[in-house]
Order: sequence, then structure tokens, then C-alpha cells
Amino acid sequence: MAEIIAIDGPAGSGKSSVSKEVARRLGFGYLDTGAAYRALAWAVAEGKIQRPAPEQETFDGFDYEISLDPDNYWVKSFGADITDAIRLPEIASSVSAVAQVLAVRRFMKQLTRDLVASSSLPGVIVEGRDITTVVAPDAPVRLLLTASEEVRLERRAKELSPEDLATLRQQVLERDKSDSKVVEFMKPAEGVELIDTTNLNFEQTVQTVLSIIREQL
Ligand code: C5P
Repeated sequence: MAEIIAIDGPAGSGKSSVSKEVARRLGFGYLDTGAAYRALAWAVAEGKIQRPAPEQETFDGFDYEISLDPDNYWVKSFGADITDAIRLPEIASSVSAVAQVLAVRRFMKQLTRDLVASSSLPGVIVEGRDITTVVAPDAPVRLLLTASEEVRLERRAKELSPEDLATLRQQVLERDKSDSKVVEFMKPAEGVELIDTTNLNFEQTVQTVLSIIREQL
């Protein structure tokens, strides 16, 4: 089975772009776990699946596929290619609510493990919020990528080119606050290596992650 390189971090920490690039350079798979929560928020908004209720004990009926190829990234749900749709601001603002349902989180944990198991590559970089702590606490490499609030907001602003920075600020910080209610991704768990990327550029961050993986794997 593919080795898991677990990478967690908040919005704008650079974890997605860094994970994808590290996967490319190592010839590993890349798994963006936030995409599944976003796809679920999309499916609820489109009426493809009932909104999960906080108290429900089981969750199923979610149709989902994702590519693990860092050079050919796509996300599909209920027959639709939703690669771009899940990046829309309305999805970003509704995703935390579905991600807080514990039955959904249990389902996503198994889904993530199954996706990694389906890969024939030597390793998969799995990035999200609870990979180092819940999904793969035994992974041979576990990293937490952070950056100052200011830098994270700047990176997001560049990515999304929003008209209104104040709204962006509120959205990103509120999402982190809301996500933090169910998972800890601002502080490293025991055995998790913290990488503060505030003063690192993209290439420096990629090199830092690569050297830790090479040392620990
Ligand atoms: O990483 P990204 O910003 O795409 O994640 C979208 C949302 O999915 C997060 O805001 C969070 O609510 C949820 N998520 C999660 N656990 C993960 C990955 C993402 O709860 N491992």
C-alpha cells in the first residue's frame, strides 16, 4: 500500500499547491481531502443529497470521484465534473457546516483511506485538516503547514482575486474558526513537524517539505 505523507494546515497556508508540487517531484499521488467536503456542500446545494443533520449517526449515498494525479486534477460527483464549481465562494462559505457533522467525518475518513489504498504508487501526499491527527495518525511523515494570518490572507487574495478584501478576510477567518470546532489544525499534535511558511516562498517551502520527507521516509 502507498505510504501516506500527511499534511494539515489552515486556509491559505499553501498546503494544496505545495502538496501538489511535492507529489510531482517525488512521483507520488496527491489527494486533496477538502475537495470531498466541498463536493458534498455542492451536492447539498444542488439537491443531489439531503443536507446531513448534526445528530445523524450514519451517512451514505454520496457519489464521489477524485483524481490522485497531480498533473491531471479533477473532481466528479453525481455524474458532473465539479472541479471548478467547488471553488466558488458560496461553496467555501457553506462547507464548514457539512464538515461538522460527525457521521460525515467518519465517512470521509474511510473514503480517504480507500482512495489511498486504491493507488499503486509508492506514496500519496494527503492534505487536509485532520490527516495528521485522525485520518492517518500513524503516517511515517506528518507535517503541519502554517503562516501568519496576514500572509495567509494575502495568498488567498492573489488566488481568488476578490473585489472585496474585507469580505475575504471575514470568510477565511470565520471558516478557520468554524472548522477549528471539530479539528485542531493550528497547533501540531505530538510527533507532527511544524513548518511556518510566513517567511518562505513557494520553492523554499517545497524544498523544506521534500527534505523532511526524504529524511523521515
Ligand atoms: O482545504 P479546503 O479549504 O479545500 O477545505 C475545505 C473545507 O473542507 C474546510 O474548510 C473544512 O471545512 C473541510 N475539511 C475538513 N477536513 C479535512 C479537509 C477539509 O473538515 N481533512
